[in-house]
This record gives sequence, C-alpha cells and structure tokens, in this order.
Amino acid sequence: MEYKSSDISSAYLRSRKIPSTACAGCGLGMNHKIVIQAIKELKLAVEDIIWGTSIGCAGRQTFGTWKGDGVAGTHGRIYAIARGLRVVLPPNKELILTVGDGDAFGIGLNHLIHAARSNADMTVIVNDNLGYQSTGGQYGWTTPQGSKTDSSPYGMFEHNLMSEGMDVLHILKGAGATFLARHVSMDGAWAVDTVKKAILNKGFSLVHMTFPCPTNFASKELGSRDPVKIFNWIKNHAAPMGQEKDDTIWVTGIYHDASNSRPEFSRLIHETVEKIRRTGTL
Ligand code: SF4
Repeated sequence: MEYKSSDISSAYLRSRKIPSTACAGCGLGMNHKIVIQAIKELKLAVEDIIWGTSIGCAGRQTFGTWKGDGVAGTHGRIYAIARGLRVVLPPNKELILTVGDGDAFGIGLNHLIHAARSNADMTVIVNDNLGYQSTGGQYGWTTPQGSKTDSSPYGMFEHNLMSEGMDVLHILKGAGATFLARHVSMDGAWAVDTVKKAILNKGFSLVHMTFPCPTNFASKELGSRDPVKIFNWIKNHAAPMGQEKDDTIWVTGIYHDASNSRPEFSRLIHETVEKIRRTGTL
C-alpha cells in the first residue's frame, strides 16, 4: 500500500493547516490518514466528497485540514444535516463524516440511529479518543470500565456502550445500518480496506476507530503522556474478531455487511415523490 504523506497532502489536504492543532503525539492523524488513503485508493477526487463533522478533537482537526467542500454541525447534529444534504446532493457525491465518540454515541446517538434507520447514504467514521478529551478528559460512553479519567478518579464504573454484552454497533444494526465495523488506528492497510467497503456501500455505513490520546486519557489512566505507552496499550487490548483474549477491549473487523441490501433514503424519497406526481397516489 502506498503511504506517501506528501501525495496525500497535496491532493486532499490543505498544506497550510498541516500540522494540525492536535496535541503532539496524538493518534488522530493515523485515523485521518486511513480515511484519506481509502479515498485515494478508490480514485475519488476531492470534488467527489462532502466532508462533514461536528465538534471536539476529531471534528476540529479533520475538518480543518480537508481541502474540499465541507459542512460542520453543532454537537451531535451533523447526521440530521447530512440526511437533508443527501436528498439534494447528486447520488455520486460521497458524504463522509468524521466525528468523535461523544458526538456520535453520546449527544448525537438519536440522530445517528435515524440516519441508520433511513439507510441514508453516508459513511460515518467515529474517531474514538475514549472520552471527552477536548474538554479536559471526562469519561464518556466508550471509556473502558475501570479507567481513571478527570471525572472518574476512582475508575469509570458506569455501564458503557462497549461491554457487558452491550455494544453500540448492535444498536445501530438493529436500527438498520447496512455496514458496521470496528478498528483501532494501528490496523493500517486492513482498516483502509474496511473504509473503502464502507464508502462503496450505497447506504448507511459506520466505522468505529479508536485512537490514542496521550494528553488526557493516557496521562490519567496510564500516568504518562508518552505516546508509545498509549499506542501499545490500545494495540495490546485490541484483537481481530475470533482471536479475542480475556483482556481484549476492542474486537476488530467487519461486524455487519449488508451493503446495498435495503433501499437508500434519498432514492426512496425521489422515487416516491415521482410516483405521487405521476399517479397522484402511493
Ligand atoms: S486532547 Fe487527546 S485526542 Fe485531543 S488532540 Fe490532544 S491528544 Fe488528541
């Protein structure tokens, strides 16, 4: 796989915004590179894509560096905005949303469920830094249980959406999503292949991708901002589906692939409107 940062940067990213304002050692750039590499390998041009985001570390950095058209929503609302955009955009325009875990699985979960329900054609990349890191490091709904954070000094003890048999990907599958996967940012070429499949699905796709936050999560949980420590910690707690161990937190791979199996939201709307115009009835 080609991984020439200079090629990727000049074609898809704004050079004046690189390096981004992410903290030194942040792993978000690895996730961003995976998405951009997938776009490149699919031979999509910058004009073929509308980039969407909301708020937080993930949104701010990826939106700021994307060279093409983009849209930003308030916290958790980009999925509703994207559904509206889907109806008015040409079908060949790809909608790629890069958001954070708090945005997607916390405040925006209701909107996310409805995007999945309607099978609106969009690819959502959930860049998971394991909590609310842009506001100082509070725990969130994917923070591993037991982890020390700014708001859980004795360890995160709440039920979350990642353990005890509860998985946010199961919720989204039940809601009708047609492509769901989970990775960590060290998955490299494997994650690139998954993101390509997600983009190729003409329906609702989501890839949940955990990345290392040395500044807040690691400094509290591991007592160190050394990026190598948090990189290794995440890597050691991730395993491909079927190879899980007792201490695996992130089971990686494609969870659900029903690509192109259900009518897509905007197509359904356009066809229905056309039928009513033609026949005066449904
Ligand atoms: S707070 Fe954490 S996730 Fe946010 S930019 Fe800094 S290192 Fe990255």
